[in-house]
Amino acid sequence: MWHKHLDDPTLYELLLKIDVDLWTKARESGCPRCGGPLHTAHYPRRPRGGPAKLPAGYDRRLSLCCGRDGCRRRTTPASVRFLGRRFYLAAMLVLVCAMQLGPSRVRVAKLHELFGVSRWTVCRWRTWWLEAFGETTFWQVNRARLRSQPDGHTLPASLLACFVEDALRERLVALLRFLSPLTVPGS
Ligand SMILES: [Zn+2]
Repeated sequence: MWHKHLDDPTLYELLLKIDVDLWTKARESGCPRCGGPLHTAHYPRRPRGGPAKLPAGYDRRLSLCCGRDGCRRRTTPASVRFLGRRFYLAAMLVLVCAMQLGPSRVRVAKLHELFGVSRWTVCRWRTWWLEAFGETTFWQVNRARLRSQPDGHTLPASLLACFVEDALRERLVALLRFLSPLTVPGS
């Protein structure tokens, strides 16, 4: 069952590792404004909707701050874990909405039992996919990178189907990587 992926701690460990890599690359590049050294400056996060036991580190959105006086600009790299300021995990936001369109959908009552996600929350997420997502600059710019163009009425299932990896989990991770620039504040 697809929802087992969302309950699998190794998925969250993998996503955290990807986030650490994205953060490390950003730190090595230095401040985009002045080239100064970047220091650790994570944001606290309280992720909702996920397995009962998330790996350590999920209470932080990895971020950086310029160490040079007069600049001190914050740099927050892309993330495959947190989609924008939404406190639900990106993997949940993608997979739950994608699978609610398919034959193997899980009743919302079951999602609530497993991950604490309410019917109202799932409705809100679907509205975001169907209305707000298509309007983002990210989507306008990056949709051309996909092999095929997804049907806007069946997002995010149609978007997930654009990735050709064999296993659902690999497709999910590829999609989260694709979406990660969307998670940078101000994008
Ligand atoms: Zn700087």
